[in-house]
Amino acid sequence: MLLRGGDAVEHYPFVNLPLGYGFDALEPYIDEATMRVHYEGHLANYISSLNSALEKCPALQNLPLCTLASSPRAPEAVRRSAGGVLNHRLYFDCMNPYRKEPELSLAGDIRRQFGSAERFWSEFVSAAMSVFGSGYAFLIRRNGSLCVVTAANQTVPPGELLLCVDVWEHAYYLKHQNRRADYIAAWRTVIEKNFF
Ligand code: MN
Repeated sequence: MLLRGGDAVEHYPFVNLPLGYGFDALEPYIDEATMRVHYEGHLANYISSLNSALEKCPALQNLPLCTLASSPRAPEAVRRSAGGVLNHRLYFDCMNPYRKEPELSLAGDIRRQFGSAERFWSEFVSAAMSVFGSGYAFLIRRNGSLCVVTAANQTVPPGELLLCVDVWEHAYYLKHQNRRADYIAAWRTVIEKNFF
């Protein structure tokens, strides 16, 4: 999991941390208007929904995000919102053009596991295109192996989350309208600069 400083102990009330790079930093691949509304609108809404849901659940207020997103003890409203925060943070962190992290070795792991970067991308892009309606494609590590999985809505898949692409229409509609493939290709360029 890609963690920001303090995530390990972060709990209710959650705050929308600064993005860490400019909303225009990913132009022309991911446009400024989309980045702004996605971060300050959609992600911020998940954070306030999560806080509202947790306000009524004192027993869950000390739990970290990853536990809230997957705990069967958590009400649906908490799990869904926590998943929305977790998935969006991973998505924005992966695109951070200033990221300096040990995951740089991920490219090597990907080549070993998938045979080549191209084979990985083929599988990943197909998965992202196959999501029916809203959801994500993820690269995760589970039992020591890398695998590509999809998840509907804000479900958080089990395993160590390494990379994700948000394919909800809000992630691309302003710039690409219904052309999900164009958005995924643009997103891929951003990720390749960071990881490959
Ligand atoms: Mn989103």
